Amino acid sequence: MHDREFDVVIVGAGLGGLQCAVTLAREGMSVCVLEMNQQLGGSLQVFSRNKTVFDTGVHYIGGLEPGQNLHRYFSYYGIMDKLKLRRMDMDAFDVVELQGDPEQYPHAQGWDNFVDRLAALFPGERGALERYARLVRDTCDRFPLYRLRDADEHEWMDDRLTLNAEQVIASLTPNTTLRAVLAGSNALYAGDHGSPFYMHALVVNTFVESAWRCVDGGSQIAKHLASNARSAGAVIHARKRVTGLDMDGNGVRAVRTADGDVFSCRWCIANIHPAMLLEMIPPGHIRPAYRTRIRSLDNTVSTFILHLAMKPGSFPYLNRNIYKFLVPDVWGAVDAADAAPSAYMFSTPATSRGGEHADAITMMTYMRYSACAPWAGTHRTVAEPGERGPAYEDFKHAHQERLLDVLEERFPGLRRGVTGVHSTTPLTFRDFIGTPDGNMYGIRKDSSSPLRTFLSPRTKVPNLLLTGQNLNLHGLLGVTVGSVSTCAELVGKSHLLGRIHAAN
Ligand SMILES: Cc1cc2nc3c(=O)[nH]c(=O)nc-3n(C[C@H](O)[C@H](O)[C@H](O)COP(=O)(O)OP(=O)(O)OC[C@H]3O[C@@H](n4cnc5c(N)ncnc54)[C@H](O)[C@@H]3O)c2cc1C
Repeated sequence: MHDREFDVVIVGAGLGGLQCAVTLAREGMSVCVLEMNQQLGGSLQVFSRNKTVFDTGVHYIGGLEPGQNLHRYFSYYGIMDKLKLRRMDMDAFDVVELQGDPEQYPHAQGWDNFVDRLAALFPGERGALERYARLVRDTCDRFPLYRLRDADEHEWMDDRLTLNAEQVIASLTPNTTLRAVLAGSNALYAGDHGSPFYMHALVVNTFVESAWRCVDGGSQIAKHLASNARSAGAVIHARKRVTGLDMDGNGVRAVRTADGDVFSCRWCIANIHPAMLLEMIPPGHIRPAYRTRIRSLDNTVSTFILHLAMKPGSFPYLNRNIYKFLVPDVWGAVDAADAAPSAYMFSTPATSRGGEHADAITMMTYMRYSACAPWAGTHRTVAEPGERGPAYEDFKHAHQERLLDVLEERFPGLRRGVTGVHSTTPLTFRDFIGTPDGNMYGIRKDSSSPLRTFLSPRTKVPNLLLTGQNLNLHGLLGVTVGSVSTCAELVGKSHLLGRIHAAN
């Protein structure tokens, strides 16, 4: 039975939790991270089948060229020079394919290159493309921490938050094909008719600046962060599910785990979905209005991901992702996902042993949590094994076959190279990430009510902070900026930014 006093206890060892651990331990605080899974990293976890490593979440990362924002942040965390990365195709790191259109529309790295490549396919639209590129960059400039600037957070509360991505893009050009192409990677934020333009801009900009794949999986990010946190003095416990917070008149006094341990703390940081956090706080310690607000927020859709192990030499390694739409409306793909696959992201992970050929293929599609409702009462992770039963396996198998048919149509002969078929469902994400519904990117953002979905790191409990993808933005860059905001509450923003600048 542990009963230790820590300055900070962090619930969850996702990207945000691990980054907070590095920062706060370096600042001299005693830090303890409690993670329910065997593997650290949350959406950075990998799994291995048929000697092939599969990423559960992250497929690619932006902003990692020297001088760019994530490179500078990762340098501060001491992981930049340790990462094994492969830069994606300069002239087409993403390719967009629209329903009924044989053209492959590239998204290229570097804004001038981005504009040039698309202007070659849309010769009359260079002006619109240049306006789009300017607007994206200008929108990113409004977010100080994305540019590592120390500025008043009120800059966030800009009226641009209410701009809608679909409408802004439509205002730039009457060309409906180009509009769809510019929105083509919207699976990166589960884009729908309500998606705000600022989210589109922040996500797209990071990849256009530079796009990279992790070689042999994204879990290396979590491993290096955990190692640096430990070197700075942090304690990290895996297989420790947090079940409750002990409260007193000052806030959180201690954190309790399922196996009966108690970790006392001066501060608690939750790297988990806020709705799950509220379940851990006994009634009377948080205002009902805050609970009601958090519970009323919608989450992003979930996903069904097909993971294929491939026979050596059977399928080429593609140094780009393909975003393929199977419905005409690119902003309607989330809503259309109930009936049949509406869109998918296709990617071949980068591995150290694979050369020109792919070891594996990943196909990411939308799926609602409700599709798995019959098995909602089951639970299965490595740390807490369980069974979901044969009907669930049949459901998974049938969906895998449906998706394989879709892929076979796009890549005739692909099936012949497949040596192993695996998949993850909304239940996999729910159980391995600890969300209510297996959502991909946390709380859904909506341009019609942006401030409702903008969570501050501060909660209504004085010593309880939030971090992770449910703050301002998801994704590696979004979560990194979020963890800087969280730690700034404890060590001061100017001080922390000073440290970050000094590390570069
Ligand atoms: C399918 C998919 C693809 C993605 N692709 C990309 C991409 O290509 N590029 C990109 O930049 N981003 C991508 N993302 C987004 C990115 O991976 C996430 O936004 C980011 O990793 C989330 O980090 P986080 O800090 O919020 O922690 P999370 O990953 O949400 O982790 C939370 C952690 O808390 C732990 N936890 C939960 N409850 C408890 C509890 N009770 N006790 C103890 N521990 C608990 C969980 O086990 C987990 O480790 C993708 C996400 C998904 C789902």
